[in-house]
Amino acid sequence: MAELISGKVVSAKVREDIKIETAAFKKEYGTAPGLAVIMVGDNPASAVYVRNKHKACLEVGMTSYEIKFDADISEDELLNKIDELNADDNVDGILVQLPLPKTIDEQKVINRISPTKDVDAFHPQNVGKIMIGNYTFLPCTPAGIVELLNYYNVEIGGKKCVVIGRSNIVGKPMAHLLMERNGTVTVCHSRTKELKEYTKDADILVVAIGKAEFLTADMVKPGAVVIDVGINRRDDGTLAGDVKFDEVEKIASKITPVPGGVGPMTITMLLKNTLTAAKQHKNS
Ligand code: NAD
Repeated sequence: MAELISGKVVSAKVREDIKIETAAFKKEYGTAPGLAVIMVGDNPASAVYVRNKHKACLEVGMTSYEIKFDADISEDELLNKIDELNADDNVDGILVQLPLPKTIDEQKVINRISPTKDVDAFHPQNVGKIMIGNYTFLPCTPAGIVELLNYYNVEIGGKKCVVIGRSNIVGKPMAHLLMERNGTVTVCHSRTKELKEYTKDADILVVAIGKAEFLTADMVKPGAVVIDVGINRRDDGTLAGDVKFDEVEKIASKITPVPGGVGPMTITMLLKNTLTAAKQHKNS
């Protein structure tokens, strides 16, 4: 039976360290790091994420600014708000909860966030810095996965790593971070033919496709480390990952559960990036 990679355990530990550092920051500068989260519309999943981010900020002693707009806000109004937050010294990190309504150009909005406050690391400047290995912020979900692999002593160097999914927020940066840590990385996606041939060969398998229980035991090499990024809601309202956990845990050496695996790490890495941003703002 696979060892469980617990995002809850690692997250609690990292958040404890962030809390201590935040207290030290406050003592030194007389102010707490501040994170502004903008939400447009009333997507229920987004509302849960925004609430969790707010709660996590307060728990580690950071200031959280929740900014909500109706779905019919104009792009200009949103961009103006970002300009305002870019200029606000109390705000160290700015996050725009995605997806945005179709009337708003997401990339234009991301591009408007000051790269020094871009704690999601989605701004092209930060994406480019990651590509050349000279970064300030890492995107939260892949960074959280690296943290999990480190904590559970999973060696990446020289290992065959397969990432399923090529999104800008998970798959692509994940592949890059594994490659930077000397993994031999293959990226699979919706047009990959004979997917199983790749997954069967992987020592480390990261699944980020958004399809409930897609990865079955016959697709996994015995002893592989399996990281499940997926968050899917079943018809009965319960959560499912992209991995058929009950089957795969029997042959993997280590595996993340859903919930309680990658999910908790994502917000933790957001807090880490906000602290980094705050320190940089005070020292610039
Ligand atoms: P996305 O929809 O942007 O990308 C999905 C990717 O999967 C695409 O690149 C596509 O090519 C690939 N794909 C789809 N079907 C496939 C198939 N049959 N075979 C192989 N590849 C296939 O999704 P995303 O934003 O990267 O998110 C992926 C999943 O991870 C979702 O369930 C999302 O909710 C979840 N997620 C979780 C966290 C977290 O904190 N745990 C963070 C971000 C995303």
